Amino acid sequence: MNSHSDAKLFPQNYEDSRKRFLELTSKIPGGQTEHWQIPSKKDDALFTDSVYWPALEKPDFLLVVTSGIHGSETYAGSAILQMFLKEIMPQVDRSKTGVWLVHAMNPYGFKYHRRTTENGVNLNRNFSVSGELYKTRNLDSERMHELFFKRAPVASTRTTMMDLMQVKNGVAYFGDVSMDQFTKATAPGQFVNPQDLEYGGKQLEPQSAKLVEKLRSLMPLYKDIVALDLHTGLGDVNRLHLLTSGSGKDLHPELFGKLFDTNEDKAFYEHTPASAEGFYEVHGALNSAFADLAGPQNRVCAITMEFGTLGHSLDAQLKGLNNFVNEHIGFYNGYSSPEMKAQVEKECFERSYPQNDEWRTAVVAASRGLFKAIGRRASIFKS
Ligand SMILES: [Zn+2]
Repeated sequence: MNSHSDAKLFPQNYEDSRKRFLELTSKIPGGQTEHWQIPSKKDDALFTDSVYWPALEKPDFLLVVTSGIHGSETYAGSAILQMFLKEIMPQVDRSKTGVWLVHAMNPYGFKYHRRTTENGVNLNRNFSVSGELYKTRNLDSERMHELFFKRAPVASTRTTMMDLMQVKNGVAYFGDVSMDQFTKATAPGQFVNPQDLEYGGKQLEPQSAKLVEKLRSLMPLYKDIVALDLHTGLGDVNRLHLLTSGSGKDLHPELFGKLFDTNEDKAFYEHTPASAEGFYEVHGALNSAFADLAGPQNRVCAITMEFGTLGHSLDAQLKGLNNFVNEHIGFYNGYSSPEMKAQVEKECFERSYPQNDEWRTAVVAASRGLFKAIGRRASIFKS
């Protein structure tokens, strides 16, 4: 497979992506397809599609790949799923192994280029199986909003927050708050106000509820479960990072040790714990549902795959944060002009989906290497 054809795996848009996924999955026998229609005020053609191929004899190992929880990140997720369906899936010995692939968790966000759902919910903060999370408050996040979040029409590509920015000894500060403190306060999520950053909702969104329901039926059938949730935007340019929550519940150390050799696989990815500078732990991540639903027989590795886009330099992080905050404010408070809106939204889109083939090729190559390596170690391929 040459790099030219890898770049072509990236779809034109949501409809094109959906068509590709459904066509490729229909060619692999035995799949159980589900189309979850996502209710919407403006669009009656939004679906999260998934296909489950059950283990045919003795279920032991379940691989789950979920894509598109953050709208524009689905372009990469779609390409990875297509590569998987063409190259990896035909190698899988399905006697003991089940596979469940989910296309476009957030079809509204994919189609309309929003990180959140139509209800303004970041789905990767929305997974609270018990519902307890929705009652919590994130006071650190509230404080950051009071200090730095200006609710007014966006008139510049530079947020007012950046006017307070100073770099001291290589660390960026807004007043006396470091960028890392700001990120670690706001990024975990909050459950109070959709107009604030990283709102996780008040209940499971329809697709979250569907996913939880499906996991409830599948997880008891298997022992080992590897779940990979596909994202873009965080980390080094053109590099795949495996993010783990650090909670321990969603990462069984024995299973992780068996399947992931971070040294041998370093050509494909690096393992980045949530505590690393510029990264963060989140509440209500999709991955946490696996931990919450695991039975005593399950060994779970639920991992976030993040492909870096802008990069992880101080400059790149500041640029990313500035645009993230600005776009969020603009969406709820408007823009000074249509040109300003277009400029901010373009930058936001490219933060999730860089428009160059070198990046596209790197995304597919790293995923291919990862799937081959873990599949081989899990002994799920035909011999
Ligand atoms: Zn994401």
